[in-house]
Amino acid sequence: MRHEVKVLQPDGVVHTACELCPWGCGMEVQIKGGKVERVRGDKGHPLNEGVLCPKGVSALEVAFSPHRITHPMKREKEGWKRISWDEALDILSAKLIDIKERFGPQAFAVAIGMPILLGGNTTVSFLRRFCDIYGTPNCFSVESLCYRCRIIAYILTLGKFPVADVANARCIVVWGNNPHHSNPPLARRIIKSIDKGARLICIDPRRTEMAKRADLFLQVRPGSDCALALGMMHVIVEEDIFDHEFVREWTVGFDELRSVVANYPPERVEKITWVPADKIREAARLFATVKPACIVQGTNALDQHTVGIQNARAVAILQALTDNIDNLGGFITSSRVHINPIRLTERMSGEPLGVDQYPLFYEVWGRSFGEGQTMVLPDALLSGQPYPIKALFVAASNPLLTWPNSQKVKKAFETLDFIAVMDLFMTPTAEMAHLFLPAATFLERTELCDYYGTLHAIPYVTLRKKVMEVGKAWSDLRFWFSLARTMGYDELFPWEDEEEAIRYALEPTGLSMQDLYEHPGGVPFGKLRVDQYKQKGFATPSGKVELYSQTLKEMGYDPFPMHREPFEGPLEGELVKEYPLILTTGARDVHFLHSEFRQIERLRKKRPHPTVQIHPSNAGDLGIEDGDVVVVETRLGSIQLRAEVTDDILPGVVQVPHGWEEANVNLLTDNRPADPVTGFPGLKALLCRIRAG
Ligand code: SF4
Repeated sequence: MRHEVKVLQPDGVVHTACELCPWGCGMEVQIKGGKVERVRGDKGHPLNEGVLCPKGVSALEVAFSPHRITHPMKREKEGWKRISWDEALDILSAKLIDIKERFGPQAFAVAIGMPILLGGNTTVSFLRRFCDIYGTPNCFSVESLCYRCRIIAYILTLGKFPVADVANARCIVVWGNNPHHSNPPLARRIIKSIDKGARLICIDPRRTEMAKRADLFLQVRPGSDCALALGMMHVIVEEDIFDHEFVREWTVGFDELRSVVANYPPERVEKITWVPADKIREAARLFATVKPACIVQGTNALDQHTVGIQNARAVAILQALTDNIDNLGGFITSSRVHINPIRLTERMSGEPLGVDQYPLFYEVWGRSFGEGQTMVLPDALLSGQPYPIKALFVAASNPLLTWPNSQKVKKAFETLDFIAVMDLFMTPTAEMAHLFLPAATFLERTELCDYYGTLHAIPYVTLRKKVMEVGKAWSDLRFWFSLARTMGYDELFPWEDEEEAIRYALEPTGLSMQDLYEHPGGVPFGKLRVDQYKQKGFATPSGKVELYSQTLKEMGYDPFPMHREPFEGPLEGELVKEYPLILTTGARDVHFLHSEFRQIERLRKKRPHPTVQIHPSNAGDLGIEDGDVVVVETRLGSIQLRAEVTDDILPGVVQVPHGWEEANVNLLTDNRPADPVTGFPGLKALLCRIRAG
């Protein structure tokens, strides 16, 4: 299907920021003869310096895809029926008013996916403002299983959320991260540092492209990273190569930590992690003695575990023991863009789901993250406890493929009276909906991209500019503003359009829309905060780095990182007899983002079907050859896909990507909370078996 396209900018080049994955690469859009002709990387943007990944290069194919749905639709007995936006807003508004009257505002939940979270602070805050005014506390996001775990862990340990400054590091540890696929701009920046002489350590069950460039590669068993970190600490403490002055002046709990790590000599850690003891020693020495050094933690690889929070705490502690905090090349924060407050949380009615089980997921020392733990939603829907949820709005998310235990998620969603989905394409989740609302791509939205400092240690702000309109697709801001007006919230949503709302948000920053328009590629904003703790201390209760966490102790959790086996592991229990292989899921593929973009021909050609990676030794035992169709089974289900036999993966481990409708790995995964502190699921170390299909 061809879409009606209205180009809004004159002929020439429009600078914007890509949003087909989280990172926001600078992009130039060429307009010629009133048509959007092509995109290319923006050479002046400090993040990607002119380079786009295959998704970014395909941005126009995404925007103009014939599979895209660009008009609102409602479900009728005969199937989907095209409707107007006014009709869609009336249906939704009437449904929300009815739900609120009969069950209370908390009975309406919103599930926000990554494209909205990464629309920048303003977009997500206005969406949450709508929820606040309506009164529901149940505005969830993808952060329930992605990224938030390490934010909480770093705050509990360091009082803040720093990132690895790879551009200035002399030693870089890439831990459970495959940036060539998950974060191409980061991969480029790491390689630039290596080319300038930085040393590289990679820790991963798979020999990734980055691991092939590493000085040291530690092929770790999934689920044992905490033991490895403790083994490295053991060496650093025993060999007296930690930073005495920093530890003495700026940490609490070192003596107790010394006792804890005494139990993790490299020879014992080798048995747990399958990494040779001499490599553990070598990695610890390299990391502790080559400065500045930083650990780049994978997006989820250390988080989705039984000890998710402790894995990330262990990373923060390694940075602290070596005095690599608040320094260029170590862990660093940058000044943030403080926009006008947008939330109206005082209007929220009651507490979000999951707060009672996972209070630290909601708030640490009065610093609220403002949302509950989504992973409890399927059980809450099925049980009606602690209160009924009757309607769900899914914004740019596809829980039926991306949340663990898909069968349970589907059953849970079947209990809902009403589902609305706003997205670019029809998805398995949207197929369950009563209302489909067509979303705009990033080329059809005006948004502030203000997260470069937080995510990349690049203090920078870019304005994502609306280049065109496609069909009747609406930006998220336009939709939520319009719904607010339809529901009579005009006074609390006084902004005419996106630009006016962003102008309001920017007021306290000293930046203006004019500044951003006059600097088409973006503007530097603020600075990296070197030596911040020396002026202010650490924002923890002790004012120091909390190697020992009194907060965790008081709440009944381990006060120090400790190795604990995955809830399904090869070293404990009976399950391994039936399911002898370790299943790790969720690895990224640069051509896709979670369940997105399988419809885009250029990308699909590069990866036509899903594959399970298996080591030749395991494949040989099972009589499986490269390309064979195989069945991967766990105690929850089975899927069929092709084998990719490769010695890049650790023997005994298999890796299945997520997001494929035809081989949905989340039919195999368990939604039971693995990490007791955050409720994150355990998706990186499950047990499975494989047979010929
Ligand atoms: Fe876009 Fe690719 Fe950059 Fe992600 S890495 S922002 S998809 S160009």
